[in-house]
Amino acid sequence: MSTSFFEQLMAEHAEWEEDRRIDAARARADHALAVADAHALDATLAMQRLEQRLAAQARQLKTLRAVIGVLTTMLKDSGAVDGDMLDIRLEAAIANSEEEVERVITVACQRCGAQVDRRRTVVTASGTVCDRCDAGR
Ligand SMILES: [Zn+2]
Repeated sequence: MSTSFFEQLMAEHAEWEEDRRIDAARARADHALAVADAHALDATLAMQRLEQRLAAQARQLKTLRAVIGVLTTMLKDSGAVDGDMLDIRLEAAIANSEEEVERVITVACQRCGAQVDRRRTVVTASGTVCDRCDAGR
């Protein structure tokens, strides 16, 4: 079975069209990879900044612990304060601040806008929503 000139021409055109589609698909894939690389780089830089911030805060905490340790020891040693009473009051103050931290962590529901306890929220594709909005979706 021989192919006519027209059939051969159309076959070449189809081949050329297929090559063009492959090139276009390859260009889109390259672009998508470049975008993904850029996002990965952004995420890496953000992680590095967070790690640096965490390290700086860890240093500050260490310094504060040292300062507080020296101050409490000096106060106790000088007899200016009752050591046991100081420990009791410090423990109570720490417990209060921990309760406050637990209370303060509220977030705005992305759907109804209410300020809700973050433990009563769900992270969805459209953002953090309260349990009530999540149940009613
Ligand atoms: Zn809500």
